[in-house]
Amino acid sequence: MEGAGEGEKPRMNREGQGISHGENRETGSDIISVSGLTKSFDNFIAVNNITFSVKSGEIFAFLGPNGAGKSTTIKMLTTLLRPTGGMISMNGYDPVLSPHSVRQSFGIVFQDPSLDEELTCHENMEYHGILYGVPKHTRRLRIRELLTIVELWDRRDDFVKHLSGGMKRRLEIARGLLHHPSILFLDEPTLGLDPQTRNLIWNYIKELNRFEGVTIFFTTHYMEEAERAAHYIAIIDRGQIIIQGTSDELKEKTGTTSLEDAFIALTGHDLRVEEASPLEHMRVHRRFFAGRRR
Ligand code: ADP
Repeated sequence: MEGAGEGEKPRMNREGQGISHGENRETGSDIISVSGLTKSFDNFIAVNNITFSVKSGEIFAFLGPNGAGKSTTIKMLTTLLRPTGGMISMNGYDPVLSPHSVRQSFGIVFQDPSLDEELTCHENMEYHGILYGVPKHTRRLRIRELLTIVELWDRRDDFVKHLSGGMKRRLEIARGLLHHPSILFLDEPTLGLDPQTRNLIWNYIKELNRFEGVTIFFTTHYMEEAERAAHYIAIIDRGQIIIQGTSDELKEKTGTTSLEDAFIALTGHDLRVEEASPLEHMRVHRRFFAGRRR
């Protein structure tokens, strides 16, 4: 792949030089900029004229009830869907005109696991690095660096099938960063994990955000995670952005004391119930019944 020598790419905000968030957000530079973005499927408007921006180095939460238009928006940002109208700039590139440059600009961790269970941690990393054309020397250094950050370097020769759910998620996050993307998309990064593991995953994500200067764009149905981790939040409902701001701003605007209550006030939905996948429901039930048996 062209442009794969990511080692040469100028690094942003390296070593904790991330933008400071909150009051001076206005002065940060946009790494994602979306204006009037619209997507229609036949006569149905899934994303309706949305405008928002994500600052370089920011942790950005994109929240909304089921069917709100989150996936459709992410697919347009990541070159998988062509917008019906509006403008997108991803790291300075238009996904329609420069899909290759956009793809080099981001890493993505999907909700559904995409690791090869029959390969080791190191082999999964290697495979991804080769796919992205990261030169061998850079690749080896980078794999070591990232596996160390997510505390899997000692497990590098273990088969993925032998890892816990939390370890697999850490490996996927590390893999998503292998080609030095400027932006990392995380779709429900902690779904189905126990609370302690969810906390750990967030520690790693925040560390990567600080250390690598990587911009994080994530979705979650755990409002308390968004409240704790996100520097900035946009809520989409029925294809439109209904509010955006910091967690404190959202609470203030809705007269609530938690992001969860703000979300319910704004959308009428409780994400904990509505967004949970069937798998998550099964896990919750299993934990419930296991608890009762004790
Ligand atoms: P979310 O990710 O917030 O759950 P989506 O972006 O997946 O929501 O979907 C937004 C709306 O667009 C939903 O009503 C969904 O049914 C509809 N939609 C998504 N993809 C398609 C498609 N390929 N064809 C028709 N409708 C679609």
